[in-house]
Formats: sequence, C-alpha cells, structure tokens
Amino acid sequence: MASSGAADGDHAQRVAALVAQYAAIPPDAPVRLAKRTSNLFRDRARSSAPRLDVRPFDNVLSVDPVARTACVEGMVTYEKLVDATLPHGLMPAVVPQLKTITLGGAVTGLGIESSSFRNGCPHESVLEMEVLTGDGRVVIARPDDEHAELFRAFPNSYGTLGYALRLDIELEPIKPYVKLRHVRFSDPVAFFAEMDRVCATREVDFVDGTVFSGTEMYLTLGQFVDNAPYLSDYTWTHIYYRSIQTYAEDYLTVRDYLWRWDTDWFWCSRAFGVQKPWVRRLMGRRLLRSDVYWRIVALERRTHLNARVERLRGKPQREEVVQDIEVPIDRAGEFLEFFLREIPIEPIWVCPLRQRNPDVEWPLYTFTPGTQYVNFGFWSAVDLAPGEADGTHNRLIEAKVGELGGRKSLYSTSFYSPEEFWRLYNGAAYEVAKKTYDPGGRLLDLYAKCVGRQ
Ligand SMILES: Cc1cc2nc3c(=O)[nH]c(=O)nc-3n(C[C@H](O)[C@H](O)[C@H](O)COP(=O)(O)OP(=O)(O)OC[C@H]3O[C@@H](n4cnc5c(N)ncnc54)[C@H](O)[C@@H]3O)c2cc1C
Repeated sequence: MASSGAADGDHAQRVAALVAQYAAIPPDAPVRLAKRTSNLFRDRARSSAPRLDVRPFDNVLSVDPVARTACVEGMVTYEKLVDATLPHGLMPAVVPQLKTITLGGAVTGLGIESSSFRNGCPHESVLEMEVLTGDGRVVIARPDDEHAELFRAFPNSYGTLGYALRLDIELEPIKPYVKLRHVRFSDPVAFFAEMDRVCATREVDFVDGTVFSGTEMYLTLGQFVDNAPYLSDYTWTHIYYRSIQTYAEDYLTVRDYLWRWDTDWFWCSRAFGVQKPWVRRLMGRRLLRSDVYWRIVALERRTHLNARVERLRGKPQREEVVQDIEVPIDRAGEFLEFFLREIPIEPIWVCPLRQRNPDVEWPLYTFTPGTQYVNFGFWSAVDLAPGEADGTHNRLIEAKVGELGGRKSLYSTSFYSPEEFWRLYNGAAYEVAKKTYDPGGRLLDLYAKCVGRQ
C-alpha cells in the first residue's frame, strides 16, 4: 500500500476534532460545511449558520496498486486524487469533469463522465465509507454491514444524512494515452442508435457526445492506447470543444483527457470572454480553470453587477438554465427534439450511463437495471419574454423529463411539489434513513435543501 500523504493516525485525530466541533454546535442551529470549493449551482439562502470546518479532510491516505484501491478523505478534489493515482497507472472508475469536485461531493451528489456507460456513477465504486452522521456518530458503512442502509441511501442525499470523511474506492488500470474519434452525425436517430450500439459492444473505453445543433452532433469515442503519433494540448491557446468540430481523430495524455472539459468549463468560459485568443494568452494555463470561473459567478451573485448593466442597456431579464438530466436512451431523441425547439441553448453535452451492477438498488436515485440512459447537460441562461416568470424554462424541462421517465440531478434549481419530489426520490426510504442517522433533524431535509434552497 503506497502512502501518499497523511497517515491514518492523523486522520483519526482529524475525525476526533471534527466530532468535537460538531458537538459544540447548538443542536437547534442549522449546520453548513466550510469547504474550499463548491460545484453546487443552486443559490442558497444567506445564512449565519455555524460552519463545520471539513477543510482538513483533503488527504489521499493511500493508494494500493496491487488491490487497485485508494483510501481517500472526503474533501479530496478529483484533481488531487487523479494526481495520486496516475503515477501507479490507475484512475478512479469515474472522474467527473471539473477538477474541484470532491470525492465526497460526487458520491453524495452523484457524478458522471464518459466512463459511466460501463462504470455507472462514482458511488458504484465505493467499497466503504466513514460517515459523520447527523446524530454525531462516526460509522463505517459498507454494502454488507449493519450500516448498509446508509451506504445505499447516501448517493443523492446531498449531505443530509451525514458527511463522508473517508472513502475506500476501486481504481482501474489505464494506458498512457487516449485516442479520440469524433464521429459526426446530422440526425439524432442515427446518433443515439450508434451511441447505444457502442455502449452495448463496449468496443471503446470512453463515450460522450456534443450537440451543436439539430443537424450537427458528434459522438466522441475514446480508447486507451500505449503510443500516440502526436499529442494535442487544450490547456491554453487551443479550445477542446472546438477541436471536436475540426478533427476526426486526436490524441491526448490520460491526464489531459480527464480534464479536457475543465479548461473552458465545457464551453461556458465563453461568457467570460476567455475564448478570445488574446485573453487566453494573457490568462495563461494557471487561470484557465473551472474554479476560476466559479469565482466570477460567485462575485456576480453577490453584486449583480452584470445584471444591472444589462438592465440599463435595455436587455431582457434572463433565466439561468443549468441542469443535468437523464432519460432512457429510447426517449433521448424525443428529449433532444423538445430541447432544441424550446430552449435556446447550445452546445449540449450528452453522456451515456448505465447502472454498473444491475443487482443493486440505490434507493434515492434509482435506475432501471440494464437500461441504457443518456445524460444531457446544459449550462447557460435564456432570455425571458416580457411577463414571463423566472423558472419558466426550468419548469418546462422538469415536466418533460418526468414525462419521458427520466430523472434530474439535484445540484441546481428544482421546482417539484413535495409529493412529486418524494415520489421521484423515494421519500419512504429517505425517511427511514433519516430517522436512523439524523433523528433530531440537525441536518437539513433533502426537499428543503434541494427545492427550498435552504
Ligand atoms: C455547471 C455544473 C456542471 C456540472 N457538471 C457535472 C458533470 O459534468 N459531471 C458531474 O459528475 N457532475 C457535474 N456537476 C455536479 C457536481 O458533480 C455535483 O454538484 C457535486 O455534488 C459537486 O461536488 P462538490 O465536491 O463540488 O461538492 P459541493 O458543491 O461543495 O457540495 C455538494 C453537496 O454535497 C454535500 N457534500 C459535499 N461534500 C460532502 C461529503 N463529503 N459528504 C456528504 N455530503 C457532502 C454538500 O453539503 C452539498 O449539499 C455539475 C455541476 C455544475 C454546477
């Protein structure tokens, strides 16, 4: 077992200190995490609630290259985790695209990437979790122990049952490079049919797609290779998503492949002007990162400076439409057709996913076992017509996803009624877990957190 940082003893001390910190928070005071970064989009009510300082939990405790596992603290970012595993020729089974997403955040808030068609979501490669529960205990939850219920209900609980402090995860072997093929389609039916086929045959290691319009969409197929005839670099002057339209074939190092979307936050960096060649040159590689753009978004949310300027210029009000949704692949064409007709946002990211182990149920975010799903990610803002209420487009999407038998990730705004919400996200199972692990309700309730934005 190769240790790459703090030892287990230090971790135990950090746990003891955190438990004491938690106990010192008055039982009737709401609890919030103090973290260095966040990728949660929904705006939350301002609060002076005490903050539980989990920042010290950012160590990769060990990597075991023989067992292909890693022992990782809950607030470790995927950037740090990947840096610890790649030298061993290993990577986590699913690496969400944004460098500052943490392992704990991805497990409790679900994550997805181009290996999800074979590995599912990050929680499906967790072997065991150490959790500080709402009632102040520290428990070890495994799929087969007395806390199996917590283990299963943790994904999609968004920190409302407890906080993951340490996770043991499976890793998978890699080769040094990824060969990419960007296959163009002009028809959604053919596009999703080919996506379905390659996912079923598993002839490649990675699958995702980019829709630029109803007649221009690309399936990007990635394959681990030992050698590369050349290597591209999209960490500075060149822009990855534009390369998809330009080259049919490409090669990247594994590290550059994993972070291909981070440099420009997919394409969202466009809004900050950083896709202009001279701005990129000035910014340099160090500042072309999703967490830098996050800071700009956070500043705007505090000051509303840009919104005020736009209003003075007579521009219409805008609604943020930032969501990831999933529908079964046989309804994906319908969703795309609806989206392109109703929501003026492009490009759209598409990523196939399937539950890794069909015999397991993850009660708070259930997939039909054996069914291939497609995730659609869209992150932008749309103009509101005069008199149109904020939330109009998000509500439309929410309703369509429900109609197509799909599900919506809860990291952004949601509008469900309590009945609808608990029907979709298994209120009965949540209630049982909540009663067992947070009977005093010290942590927020999932509906209050995700829809009530408390
Ligand atoms: C624009 C945008 C695009 C996105 N795209 C993708 C994508 O392509 N792929 C993908 O996988 N995900 C994506 N996400 C979603 C993201 O993975 C989730 O929001 C994830 O939960 C963020 O993790 P974080 O570590 O940044 O946690 P935070 O944002 O800090 O927290 C998220 C939630 O998890 C809770 N939490 C955090 N850490 C822990 C812990 N250790 N234990 C228990 N609860 C915890 C927090 O209380 C909070 O409710 C996207 C999000 C946004 C805003």
